Amino acid sequence: MKTEGKSKGTWIHRFAIRLFTLVLAVLIFWVLGFFVDDIRSVRGPSYDTIEKKYQDKDLVANRMALEKQIADLTRQIENQTEQQRVVGDSSRNLQQTINQLIELRKLGMQKSIAFSETEQANFTSSLNLFLDNQQKYQELSRTISDMIDRKQGLVREKEQAEQEIKKQGQPARDEFDTLSRKHRLKLAFLQLAILLPILAVAAVVIIKKRSSIYFPLFLAFGAATLIKVGLVVHEYFPSKYFKYILIGGLLIVVARLLIYFIRTIAFPKTQWLVKQYREAYERFLCPVCEYPIRIGPRRFLFWTRRTVNKIVVPGDGGVPEENYTCPSCGCNLFEECPSCHQVRHAMLPNCSHCGAEKEINA
Ligand SMILES: [Zn+2]
Ligand SMILES: [Zn+2]
Repeated sequence: MKTEGKSKGTWIHRFAIRLFTLVLAVLIFWVLGFFVDDIRSVRGPSYDTIEKKYQDKDLVANRMALEKQIADLTRQIENQTEQQRVVGDSSRNLQQTINQLIELRKLGMQKSIAFSETEQANFTSSLNLFLDNQQKYQELSRTISDMIDRKQGLVREKEQAEQEIKKQGQPARDEFDTLSRKHRLKLAFLQLAILLPILAVAAVVIIKKRSSIYFPLFLAFGAATLIKVGLVVHEYFPSKYFKYILIGGLLIVVARLLIYFIRTIAFPKTQWLVKQYREAYERFLCPVCEYPIRIGPRRFLFWTRRTVNKIVVPGDGGVPEENYTCPSCGCNLFEECPSCHQVRHAMLPNCSHCGAEKEINA
């Protein structure tokens, strides 16, 4: 990494970079979540519509009529039961009265007092009323039991109708399942159609800019997108497929890590560093911060890694070489050679004039 060594920054800067990288990743994850949620809110198939297509309208109407009749009957039964209760209460009262009258009569007979005419009349009317009540009570009982019979019949009919409707609902449920699966696939496809290109861009940027100072930015972008893609894939595709995707991803990552370590052993870090420094010097860019090395005829020009080969350098070769420090990061780029006292590359191993070697620290 070019940012190693001098341009590492204070710990608070490094901490801030890590923190904001994380925050950025979370924000990007959030934004991607908005896209995905918007797609997810696309309405799927409606079960009611499909059900209506398959259902026999008469059957449904019949069930509704039956339901209404059952409800009516239930209400009527409740009314009748209430009436029966009232009649029963009144019967009990009458019974008490009659019992009392009988007691009185017994007492009268013991004391040889005759039962008066009014008393006799009262007794008779109470008794008649009581008998009437009993009859009414029996009638109500019959009506209620008839009603209960009718209600049970209706309930059976309704159950049959419901079974019929349920049977008819099977193709509707099948169609709904098929349509729902299709809808889910469509949603997954749309979400991935947005996420995968973003992921591809992120991957390309991360690979291309892995030595850029803005790498954390791209890393946050890539990581957030990758996690979102993983979640979407996991949500929509059965683990049957997901495990292949997962193992594929892991294979790639592990292979890359392996390659990285093999290369680190094959080419020690210093060698890598020297290679990076050399490439930067070739492009007249500071090896640490990529700021252009503006010396000699290039003093008044500006270029980047991409434009370095396109700019026209004015022919002014007569300018002597001089010591040079990167004005941007303060790294020493050209310095005096201790052995020949000419100007040499400070970050390359050998002096271009006398070949004196210098240790390059990783
Ligand atoms: Zn620099
Ligand atoms: Zn030298």
